[in-house]
Amino acid sequence: MSKIVSYELIDQIGLITVNNPPVNALSHALRQGLQEAVNAAQNDASKALVLLCAGRTFIAGADITEFGKPPQAPSLPDVLTTLENSAKPIIAAIHGTALGGGVETALACHYRCALASAKVGLPEVKLGILPGAGGTQRVPRLAGVEAALALMTMGNPIAAEDAASMHLIDRVLQGEDLQAAALAYAQELVAQGAPLKRVRDLQIDPASIVPGFFDAYRRKLAARARGQIAADRIVSCVEAAATKAFDEGLQTERELFMECLNSPQSRAMRHVFFAEREAAKIKGLPADTPVREIGQAAIIGGGTMGGGIAMCFANAGIPVTLLEISDEALERGLGIIRKNYTITVQKGRMSQQEMDARLGLIRGTTDYADLASVDLVIEAVFENPDIKKEVFVKLDAVCKPGAILASNTSYQNIDDIAAATGRAADVVGMHFFSPANVMKLLEVVRGDRTADDVLATVMKIGKQIGKVCVLSRVCYGFIGNRMLTGYGRQAHMLLLDGATPAQVDAAAEAFGMAMGPLAVGDLAGLDIGYKARQAREAAGETLDPATHCIASALVEMGRLGQKSGAGYYTYDPQTRARKSDPQVEALIREQAQKLGIRQREISDEEIVARLFYPLINEGARILEEGIAQRPGDIDIVYIYGYAFPASRGGPMFYADEIGLKTVHETIQRFARELGPQYWQSAPLLERLAQEGSSFSEWSRSLQ
Ligand code: NAD
Repeated sequence: MSKIVSYELIDQIGLITVNNPPVNALSHALRQGLQEAVNAAQNDASKALVLLCAGRTFIAGADITEFGKPPQAPSLPDVLTTLENSAKPIIAAIHGTALGGGVETALACHYRCALASAKVGLPEVKLGILPGAGGTQRVPRLAGVEAALALMTMGNPIAAEDAASMHLIDRVLQGEDLQAAALAYAQELVAQGAPLKRVRDLQIDPASIVPGFFDAYRRKLAARARGQIAADRIVSCVEAAATKAFDEGLQTERELFMECLNSPQSRAMRHVFFAEREAAKIKGLPADTPVREIGQAAIIGGGTMGGGIAMCFANAGIPVTLLEISDEALERGLGIIRKNYTITVQKGRMSQQEMDARLGLIRGTTDYADLASVDLVIEAVFENPDIKKEVFVKLDAVCKPGAILASNTSYQNIDDIAAATGRAADVVGMHFFSPANVMKLLEVVRGDRTADDVLATVMKIGKQIGKVCVLSRVCYGFIGNRMLTGYGRQAHMLLLDGATPAQVDAAAEAFGMAMGPLAVGDLAGLDIGYKARQAREAAGETLDPATHCIASALVEMGRLGQKSGAGYYTYDPQTRARKSDPQVEALIREQAQKLGIRQREISDEEIVARLFYPLINEGARILEEGIAQRPGDIDIVYIYGYAFPASRGGPMFYADEIGLKTVHETIQRFARELGPQYWQSAPLLERLAQEGSSFSEWSRSLQ
C-alpha cells in the first residue's frame, strides 16, 4: 500500500488516513492507495470504515497538474465505485475545505460527518469543467435539483452547517478532535446497525420539478455566464440526474465532462488558475523575505478611491484612519462609506452589528499628526503630481520610521514621488481599481528603490484585504492603463470609420467583455478623459483629433455619460438602460466628415481585432521592457481589473491561442489599410511570430 494512504484497526473501526500534503489532492498514488485500503478492509475484523485526512484539510480536489496527461488507472470514478460497493459502511470525516473530487469522494461514501469549521464546495465550473466523478448525479439526489444547481454553477464553497441542511452531510461534529469524533460517530452507526446508504439508490421525484424548469434555468445562466459552456452542461447533467437512471446519468456526466475538459474555455480558465497563483511570486525575492507588521493603516483622500480602499481595510478587520483636506470633505467621504455599508445591510448581505463594527474601525481626521503611529499609508488624492508630492513630504515628516508610504496613482511616476521623501525605499505604488471595495485587482508598483521587504509586505497585505496582486514596474499607466490606451483609441476611431457605438460595444460584449469600451466611458464619465487631455494640451502636447474628437464634442454638449443621463448613449433615468441616440450618430458622421474620413461598413471581426490586438501588442512591449514579470501576470490584470473574460484566459493567452503570426500579420494589414501611425508590431511580437513561438513559450524560456 502506498505511504500516502495508511490503515489501522481501532476498536473494530478501520481507519483509513490519507496523507498527501499540502491539500491531499487526488493524485494517482492517492487513488490507488485508497482503492487498495478499501479492498483490504473487506476481509478484516472491521465493522465500518472511517476515511479521514491528515494535515490541514480533507481532499481538496483533483491533482490538476495531472490534467492534460494520459490518465492512469484507477480513475477516480473507479475508486468511487469501489468505495460505494464496500460491504462495510464507509464514513467520510471532513475537515478544512473539501473541494471538487474530495466532495465527490465523500458522496460515494455511505455517511458523511464534518467539523463545524469545515467547508465543502464543487468549484469545477471556475476551471471551465464540471464535477466529473458522480458529483452532478449525487448532489441533486441528496440536496434537490435547485440547491444542487446553485452549488455547482456558482462553484462557491459552503459551511458544514449549510451542507448539513442540504443533506450533503449527516452529522456536524462537535469539538476539534476529528479522529475521536469520527470514530465515535462510526461506533454509534455500528451499534445502531445502520444500513449501507448509497446515494445512487435515491431517486428524484419527477413531480417535484416544474415543467420547463431546466430550460428556464439555462436562460437565466446564459445572462450571467455569457457563453461559458460548463455551467450550461452542469444543468444538462442535473437534468439527467432527475430524469435518467443513475448509470445513464453518469454516462451523460462523463461525456459532458470530457467536452468541457477539451474545450478552449477550460484550457483558458486553467491557465488563469495557475497564472493567479504565479502572479503572487516576485522573481528574485526569496520566499523568506521578512514582512513588516501592519496593525494600522491610513488613507489620504476620502474620494471615490480613498473611501473604497478604507472599506477594504475595515472589512479585513484592520483599523484605518481616513485623512481629508477639510471637515466638510471628510464628512462627505465618511458619509459615502456609511451609505455603501447601509445598502449592503439593506440587501441582507451584512448585519447591522457587522456594519457598526466595520465603521468603528474607520476613523476620520484632518490632522497629519494623527498618522504618527500608522504602519501603512495609501495616498489617494487628486491625480496631480504636485499635490501628491506635497502629501508625501508631509507624510515623510510625520510617519514613524519603517512606515510604508504607498500611492494609488493611476499614472504618475512612483520614483519621482519617492524622491520627494527622504525614505524612497519605503515608497511603493498600490494601484486599486474602481470601485476599490469590489474590484479584485491590485497593481503593486515597484519603484527603482523600493525595498524587498516593502514589496513582500504589500503583496501580503493585498492578499489579506482580498485582492489579487500583480507586480508592475514604473511606466506611464503601469500594466493595465498603459495597455488600455490603444483599446480606447480604436474604439473611438472605429466610430469615425463607420461603426456605431452600439455595434462596437456589442462586438466587445459578444467577445465576452462585461461591458463594451464606449459604455465603460459613459459609466466612468467622459469628462475625466477630457480634463486629462486639456492638461496634456496645456503642457504643450498636440493630440490627434481622430483619437478624441467625438468624446470631446460630447462633453462640450454636456453629455458626460451616465451621470448626466447621456454620453455615447442616452440612459433611462429609472432603469439606467442604454439606448442608441440618432443625435450621437449624426455627430459621429459630422466629425468623420470634418476629418475627411469616408465611412464604411465595419464587420464585427474587424472591431474585435482592432480593439484587442492593440492590447496584445502593448502587452508585448510591456513584457519586453520588463514592466510585467510574465504574460500570465498581464492576463490577471485584465481579468480582475478590466473584466476581460476569464474564459479567454486574458489577452496574452488569447494571443497565443489564435497564434502570434495571425496577430502580427493582421497588425501589418491594418498598417497598410489604416495607416502605420498606430499599427506597428512590438519587436517581441514580431520576433515570436516569425519564430512560430508564443508568449508562454518565451516566458518559460526565461525561467
Ligand atoms: P476623487 O476626486 O474622487 O478624490 C480625491 C479626494 O482627495 C477628494 O475627496 C479630495 O478632497 C481629497 N484631497 C485632495 N487633496 C488632498 C490633500 N492634499 N490631502 C487630503 N485629501 C486631499 O479622486 P479619485 O477618483 O478617488 O482618485 C484618487 C486617486 O486614485 C487619483 O490618483 C486617481 O488617479 C487614482 N485612481 C482613480 C481611479 C478611479 O477610477 N477613479 C482608479 C484608480 C486610481
